[in-house]
Amino acid sequence: MKGFLDQSFASEGPVVTTVEDLLNWARASSLWPMGFGLACCAIEMMQTFASGYDLDRLGVFPRPSPRQSDVMIVAGTVTFKMADRIRRLYEQMAEPRYVISMGSCSNCGGPYWEHGYHVVKGVDRIIPVDVYVPGCPPRPEALIGGILKLQEKIQQETIQAPKKILAALADQS
Ligand code: SF4
Repeated sequence: MKGFLDQSFASEGPVVTTVEDLLNWARASSLWPMGFGLACCAIEMMQTFASGYDLDRLGVFPRPSPRQSDVMIVAGTVTFKMADRIRRLYEQMAEPRYVISMGSCSNCGGPYWEHGYHVVKGVDRIIPVDVYVPGCPPRPEALIGGILKLQEKIQQETIQAPKKILAALADQS
């Protein structure tokens, strides 16, 4: 540890930051995505999680449960039958929570946009989306680009109490 400090910080002098920047840096560097594979885009998402692309180096490690996740990656075709499940799982995730929409189907209905009577025309009609990744399907590099975009967004955030707590305080007043 001493060697690491010597190399990275000691030669550059003191490091000054705010608590908010420090917390945002820590949150952005430790994302726990819940992969929500719904169709062919899921294959590219799984490939992104595999050793070849090594998401661990970005501090991103997939979790199997919404209760342990703070990012939902919706990868594939969102049918009306799945819509209710997606919203329920989103609500089970800890706040602050984020959503990456991966691929044309999730972004806007994709090839089913015009005649897909069974497809929701964009997952943002069910849950809020933070980052859209275009493509049919997007390559792993594109999903990694979306994750980096989300990390940038988190680093710009103002730290505040979770919405549930703010709503409870508002009810009491
Ligand atoms: Fe499949 Fe294309 Fe839809 Fe992705 S966007 S789920 S690759 S049809």
